[in-house]
This record gives sequence, C-alpha cells and structure tokens, in this order.
Amino acid sequence: MVILPESEHPIKAYGYAARDPSGSLSPLTFSRRATGEKDVRFKVLYCGICHSDLHFVKNEWGVTKYPVTPGHEIVGVVTEVGSKVEKFKIGDKVGVGCMVGSCRSCRSCDSNYEQDCSKQIGTYGFPNFDGTQTYGGYSDHMVSDEHFVLRWPENLPLDSGAPLLCAGITTYSPLRYFGLDKPGIKVGVVGLGGLGHVAVKMAKAFGAEVTVFSTTPAKEQEAIEGLKADHFINSKDVQKMQAARGTLDGIIDTVSGNHPIAPLLNALTPRGKLVLVGAPEKPLEIAAFSLIMGRKTVAGSNIGGIKETQEMLDFAAEHGITADIEVIPIDYVNTAMERLLKSDVRYRFVIDVANSIKAE
Ligand SMILES: [Zn+2]
Ligand SMILES: [Zn+2]
Repeated sequence: MVILPESEHPIKAYGYAARDPSGSLSPLTFSRRATGEKDVRFKVLYCGICHSDLHFVKNEWGVTKYPVTPGHEIVGVVTEVGSKVEKFKIGDKVGVGCMVGSCRSCRSCDSNYEQDCSKQIGTYGFPNFDGTQTYGGYSDHMVSDEHFVLRWPENLPLDSGAPLLCAGITTYSPLRYFGLDKPGIKVGVVGLGGLGHVAVKMAKAFGAEVTVFSTTPAKEQEAIEGLKADHFINSKDVQKMQAARGTLDGIIDTVSGNHPIAPLLNALTPRGKLVLVGAPEKPLEIAAFSLIMGRKTVAGSNIGGIKETQEMLDFAAEHGITADIEVIPIDYVNTAMERLLKSDVRYRFVIDVANSIKAE
C-alpha cells in the first residue's frame, strides 16, 4: 500500500515540491509529525535557495526520492514546543540548517561533529528514523528535535541571515578548523557566488587578508568595493597566477564546476591548505610533488556541527555579516532556479515564505 505524503502524519503541511527530474516545483500538500516531547514546531518565515536544492530537485546526485520539498536555510518563529524542550519557547525566532537528526551517540556526535555522523538525517529528502521522508523549508512550517534548532540572534536579520545556515557554516567551519581565522593570515577564496561571497565576509571578520579568485573579470569591482576583499585575481590570467605563487596560508575553494587545482596549490605557502567546499563532478588531478614540496594539504569540509553553527550565527550577528540577497515570493521559485543555474543572482535568493505561501 502506498501512503501518500499528506496522510503519513497527523499535521497537515503545505509546500512546494519537485515531482520528477525536470526539477519543476509546484504546490504540494503533505504532512508533518505531531510535536514530540523534544520537538520544536515553527512557522517558516524565510528560506534561502542553496545550489544543492537545484542539484537535488533534478536528481543530479542520483539519490532523490520524489516528491521532494527542498530548503535547508530556514528561519522561522516557534509556534509549539514539546513538554521536554528546554532551549525554546513559543514566539522565539529560530533557524534550521542542513540537518534535523543524527544518532547522538557516535564519536562524531559526541564531539559536536553531527555533520560527520553516518546516521545524519538531512533536512529534506532523507529518511527519518520512522522511515518517512524529510521535507525542507519551502513549506509553511517545520518540526525538528530541539537539538538541531538554532537560536536566532536578536540583531541578525531574518531574511539576509537565512543563507548563513548553509553558506555561512560551510565557510566559517573550515576557516576555524584549519586555523585560517587569525588576524593577518592570508586567505584565498575561489569563486564568488553564494558560498564565496560569505567566505570573503567571514575571513575579513577574522582579520584575514583576502584574495578572491574568479574567472569573471567583472567581479573584481564587486569583490574589492562591495565585499572589501584585499586582492582580486582572474584565475585565467597566467601571469597573475604566477605572481601569486607561494603567497597564501589557505584557500577555500567554493567552485562546483570542474577546474584545475594545480595553480591553486602553487599559490599556497609551505604548509598551506587548500580546502574544498564545492564538489566538481570530475575527480581532481593532483601531482604528488605539488603536495610533497612544502608539505601542503588538500582537504574537504562539509557544513559544521550544531554547536559551531550557533557560534557562527552569534559571530555573524556580532560582526554584521549577512548574505547579499534577492527576496522572492515562492511562486517565483522556478524562475529563480533557472537564474541560479546561470549564476544570475547576487548572491542568494531567499524566499519570503510566510508572505507568499497559501494553502490550497
Ligand atoms: Zn546548502
Ligand atoms: Zn552520530
């Protein structure tokens, strides 16, 4: 027997979902679980559109089960709390990022690295512990265990802060983990999109000297004047790349298209680190000598734990860091996805969910 999304759970929910690999989103009535004792239920106010949403609705990673309601940069206001909830009360502003569950008992979970837990439950398109699918923030409300709910800092804007829940932690966490969070340290950021522009702001707030690498010369002005980066290098300019040799302590590479990394490894100082947060389709080509000489590191990083995500939001609020956004109504989402595919957004779409979603 097939159980329809709208009758799996007792509480009716409403959102936008893709039903096939065309990725086209349309209204979906589904359901969410009743508020458990440790659960927080909240009305969705804003939800960012992450590049992963685009990959996921089109089943480009081959794991999508339809219908899928994306969205993992979710900000809202609490409407109900379970009897054992300690951190939140009705009316609190909250956020949910890329995870809504994990085992809570493995070594990763015990060390506040829930993002590395093998039983992690993604905010959408993942099987819940009860076997039902998770649905994301392109929807009227959410319910999550309070452990995975973030406290929203008082002075952090709800709309332009929303993308920090994915783009913010994805860039903040590697800067911290790899020691690139100190004043005067020289940091490169490759790619100036949703992730890259937040990476520049985070690194600047840590006091780093930031170099932006991009293949789009037109982004130089945005990088230097808009985002206050210290240097801009067109990565197609062989001479400029050559001149940057040996200058950077670390690089955050946010590009998800295939691109050569040898020139980036050359730009690192001895013991420098190249951290990948974008995921190109093709395997990377790395000459062993480019790592051996100067004991360089190539690493990857995936979001961050819940404790660190809270720390990141507080840091962003303290330093006035938000994403540069274009706010859209939810019925614009398909056009937004098309524009995102063409990188035609500076730099993140955020859906004004509460003011534009209507139950049918
Ligand atoms: Zn994301
Ligand atoms: Zn775990």
